[in-house]
Amino acid sequence: MIKYIVFSIFFLLSSQRVLIAQENRAVIDTLEERLEFTEEIDTLEVENPAIYPIPDTIIRLNNKQFYAALRGCSNSLVVNNFTFLLNHDPSLRFKIPAISPINLNHNPFVNSRFGYRVHPKYKDVRFHGGVDMITLSHEEPIYATAQGVITKIAYDPNGYGIYVVVDHAYGYRTIYAHLALAVVELNQVVYTGTILGKMGKTGNATGYHLHYSIIKNGHYVDPSPMLLLFLSDAK
Ligand SMILES: [Zn+2]
Repeated sequence: MIKYIVFSIFFLLSSQRVLIAQENRAVIDTLEERLEFTEEIDTLEVENPAIYPIPDTIIRLNNKQFYAALRGCSNSLVVNNFTFLLNHDPSLRFKIPAISPINLNHNPFVNSRFGYRVHPKYKDVRFHGGVDMITLSHEEPIYATAQGVITKIAYDPNGYGIYVVVDHAYGYRTIYAHLALAVVELNQVVYTGTILGKMGKTGNATGYHLHYSIIKNGHYVDPSPMLLLFLSDAK
């Protein structure tokens, strides 16, 4: 009986792992497809560079290209909602989280996706309210993904470690966790591309990574379709 239980648990965990690996692959495939798609777009428009200090590596698109990018994105509720809002306010693309918090030239990838997963430390199935992003470099600056206000800078040794919370328009909020350090201040106004801090492994982290969450009206939403809404220069 005990043998059977042990075997069942082992089987459950390993099949969960396979499932999660397949899902990770699907997310990466989607992102890669979108990246290829964006490489085809070569006409670029830079708007208000003084107002929106987005790093050179993050390219802003005109509305037509932006819609094209949205169509290339997965057909999730987040994106539909985003498209709807964008129709009412074209400046929205600066206001709600629409870039990768890590420079895409540094090839970040999502190594743990949003949703239920086997926890890397506790080995049980838990809800993951964001994505974990890693790169080969540990010295990554972490960027604000939209304009907003810093509403929290805190240290949680048993959870997020050093983390920063930014409040944006339309009920959006973003969390950047496990930072090595934060370089912003409470109530500071930030813009799309403002550096918030440096990637780290503070708090409950098994290694260097960024935990990135997007909250919409108090609910966690999957950041993965929104990582490339602003497209990177994929050189
Ligand atoms: Zn995480």
